[in-house]
Amino acid sequence: MTDTAQSEQVEQVEQLESLDPTTGDVVGRHPVADAAAVAAAVARAREAAGWWAALGFEARKEILDNWRSVMARRMAQLAGVVHRETGKPHADAMLEIGLAVDHLAWAASHAKKVLGPRKVSSGLLMANQAATLEYLPRGVIGVIGPWNYPVFTPMGSIAYALAAGNAVVFKPSELTPGVGQWLADSLAEVVPDGHALLQCVHGRGAVGDALCRSEIDKLAFTGSTATGKKVMAACAERLTPVLIEAGGKDAMLVADDADVKSAADAAAWGAFSNAGQTCIGVERVYVHEKVADDFLRELIERARSIEVGRSADSAYGPMTLSTQTDVVRRHIDDALARGGHAVVGGADAVQDGFVQPTVLVDVPEDSAAVTEETFGPTVVVNRVPSMEKAVELANATTYGLGGSVFSKSGGPALARALRSGMVSINGVISFAGIPALPFGGVGDSGFGRIHGEDGLREFTSPKAVARMRVKPVMNLTSFGRTATMDKNFGTLITALHGRATQLPKLPKVPGLRNR
Ligand code: NDP
Repeated sequence: MTDTAQSEQVEQVEQLESLDPTTGDVVGRHPVADAAAVAAAVARAREAAGWWAALGFEARKEILDNWRSVMARRMAQLAGVVHRETGKPHADAMLEIGLAVDHLAWAASHAKKVLGPRKVSSGLLMANQAATLEYLPRGVIGVIGPWNYPVFTPMGSIAYALAAGNAVVFKPSELTPGVGQWLADSLAEVVPDGHALLQCVHGRGAVGDALCRSEIDKLAFTGSTATGKKVMAACAERLTPVLIEAGGKDAMLVADDADVKSAADAAAWGAFSNAGQTCIGVERVYVHEKVADDFLRELIERARSIEVGRSADSAYGPMTLSTQTDVVRRHIDDALARGGHAVVGGADAVQDGFVQPTVLVDVPEDSAAVTEETFGPTVVVNRVPSMEKAVELANATTYGLGGSVFSKSGGPALARALRSGMVSINGVISFAGIPALPFGGVGDSGFGRIHGEDGLREFTSPKAVARMRVKPVMNLTSFGRTATMDKNFGTLITALHGRATQLPKLPKVPGLRNR
């Protein structure tokens, strides 16, 4: 092909433009992948996966450690890309990158211990057998990510999938392709011989759909519940297993013995940081009526001091997805129309792609601001007569991602009572920064886990092997089995398991009526 023909062909490939949400300026162009390009990427990943799996834990760790150090050294550069594509303040971008790097370190250093071969007890009945268990990589993992934490969130899947021995094909959000490409390019720098361990396929929903239908071995999705359902349906065609990290409507509970100032400080951060575009952000607060006035005074003071703007140093920036402002406006209007009050912000808070902090009180529990994911810098604060009521209202949602609890004495009991995958006690979002803790939700928030030991195992298949060490005294899996053996077996089972046991008493949960 001549140079001209080649360049004409390149020009024909549709380009995805990524925009700076504060200015609308084009900050990058990326070729849109069609189904054939997705299939080709998966085929390249398949080759890389074979090489990567054969390397073993130690050599993989070395390469992932090198990648980690590249990311750590160039944090500021990556934060610049995140800021340009999302409008997120530079310091917040640094925070999410730092946490992602820490997760990468944990995944690489724990993979061998968590997934490597180990002996397990073969039990009394099979005492003649040696039993071993190991967790083998699945092969090629498809990752589909959102735009709100474009480093931290997909890295929860990518880092753990790679550490477990898989190759990854990543479809970043159409709003943050540059961030995704930065991740793939930086890993490529430390991978020998051009093995395609992490590749990006760019584009909109159709590219994600093509990835779901391609010959991947598992799909890790993070995004909205509605898209998660489409992803599951597409993956069902090839029976491709899926991990779904979807939305949330997280609640904070503030008990009457809480450190109210700390609770208000955490509520402000949890609700407003990143313009509220946080899956585990604080969207609702249920505060005990005894401390509600104090809590609100502290929260209002903090909310009023927040400076929103375009600068990289602002407290938070614009809404990254401009159409999300319509959702936020609808939720505020609905709450006010149904008798709620705005004590900060309110009907005029949504302007020019920015949303000012908004605190809504006395909002009916069936209003959209309470039942639907708002994904904006608004928070509903409702008073409750007891923590029992707080738990009941917090759990009255189809979502079940995270949550937080402020109480000096009842934290663990309240945390356990919340129907969610994760809870922070006397803090907010802290569980996400602890690599050993699994991350994920229940109900409409999805299933499966990233992070921690569960997050490593999520990208593997368990391999169970039983090896006969000595011939059994009674070979029960043979047609040579005798009636005496059957009788002895029955006697043995009755002796081992036939005794009546007392039913355990349910533990009492302090501060709650016994359930
Ligand atoms: P979306 O569901 O709109 O999109 C998520 C990803 O799916 C994007 O890459 C998107 O591509 C892609 N996609 C869209 N349509 C399809 C399709 N038919 N098949 C396959 N992929 C598709 O979510 P957002 O990007 O708007 O992210 C916000 C949501 O993510 C919120 O609900 C938030 O709660 C949730 N979230 C959950 C987290 C968790 O860990 N549980 C963490 C962070 C966010 P494109 O962008 O091109 O449309």
